[in-house]
Amino acid sequence: MSKPKETLNPFEIARTQIDRAGKKLNLDAGMLEILKNPRRELTVHFPVKMDDGTVKVFTGYRVQYNDAVGPFKGGIRYHWNVSLDEVRALSCWMTWKCAVMGIPYGGAKGGVICNPKEMSKDELEHMTRRYASEISIIIGPEKDIPAPDVYTDGQTMAWIMDTISMAKGFAVPGVVTGKPLAIGGSLGRDEATSRGLMYAVREAAKKMKLTLKGATVAVQGFGNVGMHFARLMHDEQGSKIVAVTDSKGGIFSEKGVDPKEVLAFKEKTGSVVGFPGTKPVSNEEVLELEVDILAPCALEGVLTSENAPRVKAKIIGEGANGPTTPEADDIFHKRGIVLMPDILANGGGVTVSYFEWVQNLSEFFWTKSEVDQKLEGVMVGAFNRVWDMREAKKVDTRQAAYMVAINRVVEAYKWRGIFP
Ligand code: NAD
Repeated sequence: MSKPKETLNPFEIARTQIDRAGKKLNLDAGMLEILKNPRRELTVHFPVKMDDGTVKVFTGYRVQYNDAVGPFKGGIRYHWNVSLDEVRALSCWMTWKCAVMGIPYGGAKGGVICNPKEMSKDELEHMTRRYASEISIIIGPEKDIPAPDVYTDGQTMAWIMDTISMAKGFAVPGVVTGKPLAIGGSLGRDEATSRGLMYAVREAAKKMKLTLKGATVAVQGFGNVGMHFARLMHDEQGSKIVAVTDSKGGIFSEKGVDPKEVLAFKEKTGSVVGFPGTKPVSNEEVLELEVDILAPCALEGVLTSENAPRVKAKIIGEGANGPTTPEADDIFHKRGIVLMPDILANGGGVTVSYFEWVQNLSEFFWTKSEVDQKLEGVMVGAFNRVWDMREAKKVDTRQAAYMVAINRVVEAYKWRGIFP
């Protein structure tokens, strides 16, 4: 694949997206500057004792982008490519995501530069607890509430919750979301991002008069988001999952696969690659398959001006954050491909995180069907606000989502004013 000509720096992309929507909204220059900058950034360098007795120093970040609407909220990523600009971009996108979903949070994100695949469980626990302790000065149920992201999970959240609770001297379940059920997690949180993505794709399909039963689906990144999305589309919509990939490669089957069987295979072998009855497909090829629905559910910057002309899907559902560059957005819009942008499409995760936090603070728990029903209401409401904006202003769906989100944050500033 040749190199795209545009920038792949995620924070530059995030700022371009704000500029584009800001222009359509005629925002004044001062407000635009506020929205294009994070409020607070914490960088920490901290030592961890490794299993072999050596000490390694890790670098981590927590960026608190904007809290005009409510407390900061956003996941924590463990990855070797984590950088301050990536965490800034992700925290920026969290701000717009919470605003477009209409939940009372601002945006934040955290990350640690590490390779969790090469670390033992003990090493991961020690690193997590020390990172939690380092950022404890700025997180808390009323201030900033982390959650899982790439290569972090319920176990990671449990260690953070325990670390903060030990320092306080009592259990503080509301400090993180995405926790295991036994310590205050919410039913339905594990699949919430994917269920929300399914609702967003379903609503888009309705507008396009596309039947989801039998529709073909390709998923890049068979992790938490991608796996549950494939499963829900297969089990609840009757769609045909023709391709899935992970970091090691991917599989293709014209007949379609059952994602539950692929998951069982991946749990045994460590990858989807080699699943019986399928042909190999690469992480580049999966984006260009002849399918109805394409769901990038891995990392950012994969759909660019270079490959966008060859994408054949009718609907793109962004499970991942930031998979599409602004230049690729323009190409999709011109080609009539309907893109469900990340800040809307994967907002189901933070929505059920919000439900989890509400349940923690009120010490009253909901059933799975209550969670799913409320999630559907929030997703469909957000989808309709974005679609109405798209039709009214004749913009693409991403710009429409940004315009809805930015309007909400700007309104918060109007009421609160600029301190002092
Ligand atoms: P995860 O760690 O569970 O899964 C990531 C998947 O991507 C894995 O299957 C991994 O093998 C694959 N992958 C890694 N590098 C890859 C590469 N270079 N090419 C192809 N595949 C690769 O993470 P997740 O929680 O599913 O998150 C995936 C994306 O969804 C991220 O962009 C994340 O920010 C976004 N997201 C997650 C949530 C959530 O609730 N977990 C919510 C909103 C958005």
